[in-house]
Amino acid sequence: MITFVPKPHLLESPRGREWPALPATRAAVTPAPPSGADVVIVGAGPAGLAVASALWHHGVRDLVVVDRDGRPCRRFFDRVDLLGQRVLRSPYEHHPGVEGYRDCELLDFARLHWSVLTPVERREIRMAQAGHRSVVPVDVFEAYCAHLAASHHVTERTWRGSVREVLPTTDAVTVRADRFSVTARQVVLCLGEERRPAPDTWWGGGHPPPGVSYWDEPVPGGGKRLAVVGAGLTAAHLLSTGLAQGHEVHWVVREAGERYQCADVNSSFFRPEGRARFDGVSWSDRLELMGRFRRASIMFEFRPMLEAAEAEGRLIVHRGKAITKVRPGVRLHLEDGETVAVDHAVLALGTVPSIGDGLLPDEAVLDRGGWPSLDERTFAYVGAPRVFAVGAAAGMALGPAARNIDGHRVATARVAATVAENLRTGTSPRVATKDVARV
Ligand SMILES: Cc1cc2nc3c(=O)[nH]c(=O)nc-3n(C[C@H](O)[C@H](O)[C@H](O)COP(=O)(O)OP(=O)(O)OC[C@H]3O[C@@H](n4cnc5c(N)ncnc54)[C@H](O)[C@@H]3O)c2cc1C
Repeated sequence: MITFVPKPHLLESPRGREWPALPATRAAVTPAPPSGADVVIVGAGPAGLAVASALWHHGVRDLVVVDRDGRPCRRFFDRVDLLGQRVLRSPYEHHPGVEGYRDCELLDFARLHWSVLTPVERREIRMAQAGHRSVVPVDVFEAYCAHLAASHHVTERTWRGSVREVLPTTDAVTVRADRFSVTARQVVLCLGEERRPAPDTWWGGGHPPPGVSYWDEPVPGGGKRLAVVGAGLTAAHLLSTGLAQGHEVHWVVREAGERYQCADVNSSFFRPEGRARFDGVSWSDRLELMGRFRRASIMFEFRPMLEAAEAEGRLIVHRGKAITKVRPGVRLHLEDGETVAVDHAVLALGTVPSIGDGLLPDEAVLDRGGWPSLDERTFAYVGAPRVFAVGAAAGMALGPAARNIDGHRVATARVAATVAENLRTGTSPRVATKDVARV
């Protein structure tokens, strides 16, 4: 049997190249946005950028985008760069552009910048054109996001602000940030995901003990022995960096073994027939599908490197072993009684969708086990029909792909069309829960 394993060099695109100048665009020039707008988008990651760009095509110009970092997609690239990730997991066709308009997709953009690309990157473009899986450089993706933000006038409508409250009434929604408030007719929440914290039982909850950090924090230098906990692509990047730095690396994987897979979600969910599996089925069936088809896995390209490191004894893999306690020092206690002693441990335990709890009133979120109750056609909050969700929070309405760039595009198409139509007709969305009218 021939086993096809894509080559590790595909993971190595250069980072930080100069890209040809984009259409001139200025950042928001006023320190605070206007106090009123047709639409406010909270979060300017790939999802927020997709929604803002789509609304531009619908002719919605009175838009305010609020983001903690003040610049489109900053958190995404900060996370990617912290991990040393050089290529995306998602292929060229998972472009964050605008569904339906095809104004300049990720693949078009890459082809437009052929002269900047390496021979390997050009070959991947040919793979994409031929309909095969392809690897997208982070550099190309970043330049494309900047192009989207510039060409759809998103940069100049984006303000830095940390949103503290989103308060819906029957007629409007007020978004209160740390330095300003904006009242809008409709609001789209594109909040992304936060890191999943360790269980309280590991060290009693709160900040990790000395010598332990999470994947989205810098790993301090020094020390010889490093442990990485987790089975996903983030863990793979941490392992790869630790090995390249000459550490003795311990890998703690709770599952019986690691899984290698192209995408982090079963690829059927990127297609209409996959998404249809979520239509009309019960909540518990959806949870089952979500658990079965969205499990931690690693891009194939890592496999030769990790297998070689394990064979050479540079990587010690603790498979099928859950952690029971973490002690300073650092000592990881495993369920079979074994203890892994290292100088530093990094936890890559996945992410949790930000669903608007803590921002919206509880009766607007109607939290069902970490998921908001959304209208399944429009992704409006059932308890706050002027507020919409795009991104991970839409997972139980759209399916597991909601957390990926491709899912953002599909959700964006529905949300942007609904928001624009409501503005055009002056329709007041139906308020499902009377109590929500109170602020
Ligand atoms: C390292 C890494 C690599 C990934 N690679 C891929 C990939 O290759 N392909 C793929 O499809 N997916 C990938 N993902 C998943 C990826 O996170 C999503 O596809 C994408 O980032 C989600 O976009 P988003 O806009 O929903 O969230 P984010 O990118 O997290 O953006 C959300 C934004 O909202 C802001 N925000 C949140 N709350 C507030 C608030 N209260 N006030 C103001 N601003 C707020 C945040 O600061 C952030 O800027 C990756 C994830 C990680 C962590």
